[in-house]
Amino acid sequence: FDSIAIMTSGGDAPGMNPAIRGVVRAALSQGIKVYGIQRGYSGLIADDMSTLQSGSVSNIVQRGGTVLKTDRCTAFKDPAVRAAAAEILRRRGIGALVVIGGDGSLTGAHLLQQETGIPVIGIPGTIDNDIFGTEDTIGFDTAVNTALEAIDRIRDTATSHERHFLVEVMGRASGSIAINVGMAAGAEMILVPERAIDVAAISSELAASRRAGTGSSGIIVVAEGPTPGLTSRLAEQLREQGQDPRVCILGHIQRGGSPSGHDRVLATCMGAMAVRYLCAGYSDIMVGVRDGSIIDVPLDDVIRFRKGLDPSLLDMALQVHR
Ligand code: ADP
Repeated sequence: FDSIAIMTSGGDAPGMNPAIRGVVRAALSQGIKVYGIQRGYSGLIADDMSTLQSGSVSNIVQRGGTVLKTDRCTAFKDPAVRAAAAEILRRRGIGALVVIGGDGSLTGAHLLQQETGIPVIGIPGTIDNDIFGTEDTIGFDTAVNTALEAIDRIRDTATSHERHFLVEVMGRASGSIAINVGMAAGAEMILVPERAIDVAAISSELAASRRAGTGSSGIIVVAEGPTPGLTSRLAEQLREQGQDPRVCILGHIQRGGSPSGHDRVLATCMGAMAVRYLCAGYSDIMVGVRDGSIIDVPLDDVIRFRKGLDPSLLDMALQVHR
């Protein structure tokens, strides 16, 4: 390729910047020109892009969010709009597109490739770690650590006031953040979408630990689940059963902040590998991690299958935390 383009799309994640940097620096080292597309697919269909130099990605490795900005672009779900997007890339002589984003963004990339033949490579950037075919996603480690820091603080007040807190963490349909944060925070309970919630059982357990004098306070980590409002509803149901939990929804603080060392290394490696795969003629794949090594995964699989929570991790977590 003479030229490629790169974008970030969908929910932002800490580590997207080192991924951009990795792609740009690796491509330039091969003599490939890189266009940075602003605001994901919205910027692509508006032809909003400019070339990136080595200096364009200086001093961004430590910054959260994405310097290319991100967006949700409903129009890109229309095949006619994707055809027009391919035209824009061709007109500029851009031979391939690298998309950093979650499953929605990767779906868009796959469809673009299938329908127009533009080579695409996906990089999994989402705090939720809910993408099939990869053990890890850019932003997950940082989000777990950010939520953990918040919960450590909540525990101070929970202990002092002898209260139970329901702390809601992100993750959409995946309990991955909740399991990891819950274990690391020493939560008394972890509730994940992969397992049914039994309100009566939770209530009687809270009551029993209070009677035993061992559990006057505690942290219950709740994964947000696919539909909003779960934690507030759960608190209401527990109140009806005579409990008095406080609710803390961590929300968007989990998406921000400087990427952890782990995420910076992961993102840099994935960015560099994306370029290597492109140069080797790969397309319609995502860069993933298996057994700690970087691998390529067909985007078709990424989109078709749902990633489940690691059953052994769930087992071990529930053995300790209920
Ligand atoms: P994420 O990438 O974080 O999962 P979204 O699901 O919001 O975030 O997807 C980001 C963008 O990817 C969407 O705004 C849209 O432009 C594109 N996209 C999502 N799903 C599809 C789809 N089925 N077909 C084409 N494009 C899609």
